[in-house]
Parts: sequence; structure tokens; C-alpha cells
Amino acid sequence: MTLLALEDVACHFTTPAGVVRAVDGITLKIDPGETLALVGESGCGKSTLAWLILGLHPLTRGRISFKGQDISRLRGRGAKGFRARVQAVFQDPYSSLNPRLKVRTILAEPLLAHGAARRGVAAKINRALSLVGLPEMSADLYPHEFSGGQRQRIAIARALILEPDLVVLDEPISALDVSIRAQMLNLLQDLQGELGLAYLLIAHDLALVEHAARRVAVMYLGEIVEDGRTEALFDRPQHPYTQALLAAVPRPDPAHPRATGQIHGEVATALAPPSGCRFHPRCPKCMDVCTKTAPETTIVATEHQARCHLLDSRHVPGTRRGTIVG
Ligand code: SF4
Repeated sequence: MTLLALEDVACHFTTPAGVVRAVDGITLKIDPGETLALVGESGCGKSTLAWLILGLHPLTRGRISFKGQDISRLRGRGAKGFRARVQAVFQDPYSSLNPRLKVRTILAEPLLAHGAARRGVAAKINRALSLVGLPEMSADLYPHEFSGGQRQRIAIARALILEPDLVVLDEPISALDVSIRAQMLNLLQDLQGELGLAYLLIAHDLALVEHAARRVAVMYLGEIVEDGRTEALFDRPQHPYTQALLAAVPRPDPAHPRATGQIHGEVATALAPPSGCRFHPRCPKCMDVCTKTAPETTIVATEHQARCHLLDSRHVPGTRRGTIVG
């Protein structure tokens, strides 16, 4: 059974300047035990989508279901149970841990909030610390007594202590020293193997994604523009935005050169998304139709789809459906 499914999910914020369409019609799924990476530039809506999945903000439209249950309809114990099953690790281990609390209290809080018996709490804390490679004595220290990498281990221990099925990893290593990023990535992968966790990995570092995720979804201005198995998407990117993101990643393998592509400018504001294809003001392959009509999703291979008029033979005479030109 699918673990998490999003169907046409949207989140619009009303501001004095107008309606911000932060997330606008996202459909995707995550299976048990897999890693789905969500990539895109800052401001494309990745973190807002994470908040929606965590149940921290209401949907404007659409449905999110967890193990087949619509989470917006959950109340009381059902809602509390869902929150235990889906946890998060955020980017900054300095601000995500309360500096006034000892690690023991930080780790005990979620257990007690979910009704765990006090007599079992110490053992669960020790197990969580052991899982992330910290000694039991860490429980009696404060966050400031740890390095950045150790703090992120504590944040991971807190996410794991309720034995979730899904962990949302919001840029989990980007605030850490380069020297310890690989260690943290290995730890996350080991934990996934040992505990059968599914991850939603939000990242802008595509080199990280290539090694950590089974599938990748590329987000641009509130929409998913391409998604597919990691290997297929990296070897045969179909959307010009994906091609441009990948072109920016160095690849020391002449046998498998990157797709080329270059974009300029920044993500437009979600207050007034461009007409037609939202990427058209930055797209080097923009055609007339792109400025007027939003592209539909085209299935280009098994588990690989993209939204671009270049994939539609109605707009590019002489091309087969599913074959990108240029
Ligand atoms: Fe570029 Fe047009 Fe494809 Fe959008 S639909 S990515 S503007 S070619």
C-alpha cells in the first residue's frame, strides 16, 4: 500500500498584496521504505509542501492521505496517531533544539506528549541515542555542548523516538560542515535500512539526491514539472528546468556527460505566476504556445513524466511524443 499520497494539493496564502500560490496542484506518492527527493530553487514551494504533509497548515485544495486515510479528516486520537507516524528533521540543528532543555527532556517530550509510560522513557531515549551513534551520557547535556553534526544527530533521534514510518528531511545536511555531510548521509541511509523508514528528502544539492533517493520530483513555482526514477531523470532529463539544474552539477565522468542547458534570472513570485508554462520567462526553448497554455503532464517512460510542450507533438511538428528536442 502507498504510504503517503498527495492528490492535486494546493496551498494559497491571502496577503495584502494578493493571493500567493505557494503550492498549486501537486500530485505525488511515497511508498513504504523509499526515498523521494524534492528538488528546486529557493522559493519554489518545497518547504510549504513539507508543512502541508506534516499537517502544520491547512490545504486550500486537494487531499493528502496516509496509509489510505485522508489526514484532513483525522481528529483527536487519529490526528495524534498520524503526527507520531510522520516526523521531521530540519536544516538548522542550532535553532531546532531548545537550548534550555537537556537532551533527555528534548527526547522525552514527544514520548510523553503521545502518552508513553514514564517507566519506559529512559530505555527509549537510550535506544534513540544509540541509533544515531551518541553515548547514553549525552542525555544529561545541553545542546550547546555538542557540535553541529552531533546536534543534528540529536534532532534525528528526536524524530525517530516515536518510531515513525515517514521522516521529512528538510535540507538535513546543508547547514553542516562539508567534512561531516557524508557521515550524516550514511547515518540516514543506515537508519532507513534498519528501521524501514521512508524519507521525503527536500534538497537543492542534486549530487546528494543522486546518491540518496530512489525517485526525484522537480518543483518549480508551486508545481511538479518532472518526476521519475533517479537514474532515468539524471540520465535523460526531459524538462528544460531539470536539464538546467543538472547542467549546474559537475560530473567527473566523460562517458556520461550532463545534459546541457542554462537559465537566467530567478524564480518568479508566486503572487503573480507567469501565464501558460510558469517557467517560460526563463526557458531557453520557449515557444509561442508556452506563454499562453499551461503544458499537460506527458508520460515519457515507466515512472517518468514531465510537463513541457516540447514533449507534445501537437506543438513541435516532426517530433514523436515523449522525445525532447533541442
Ligand atoms: Fe520551456 Fe515551453 Fe517547455 Fe515551459 S513548456 S519548459 S517554456 S519549452
